[in-house]
Amino acid sequence: MMKILIVEDEFVSRTLLQEIFSPYGVCHAASNGLECLAAFQKGLDENKRYDLICLDIMMPEMDGQQALKKIREIEQERGIGGKDLVKVIMVSALGDAKNIMKSFMKGQCEAYLTKPIDSEKVIATCVKLGLISE
Ligand SMILES: [Mg+2]
Repeated sequence: MMKILIVEDEFVSRTLLQEIFSPYGVCHAASNGLECLAAFQKGLDENKRYDLICLDIMMPEMDGQQALKKIREIEQERGIGGKDLVKVIMVSALGDAKNIMKSFMKGQCEAYLTKPIDSEKVIATCVKLGLISE
């Protein structure tokens, strides 16, 4: 079973993602970047790491881009690399496509999805990343 962190400020999208992922593992939810980092660090501290973080870009307090940057910094500080790096799927509105691409091109995230969230695309992306089998 996977351990998944869904980071999304909108209730409807967050709930939808939780429903999509619930058959595949344990889903935790955060509503901004700060909560995301708190959950991520807790997972590392307790040695119960997340396998996947689904990260929205536009969020209050701390956005997805900043959170992603911090996640990768924390992993580096802790000597986490290669296969142990958490897989990150960026999820955002079409208007943010340029931002998503920036992260994707830098190799900071493994995949990106645009809203509206399509459950088949979400699952297909996880299959492609080797997180779930067909
Ligand atoms: Mg948002």
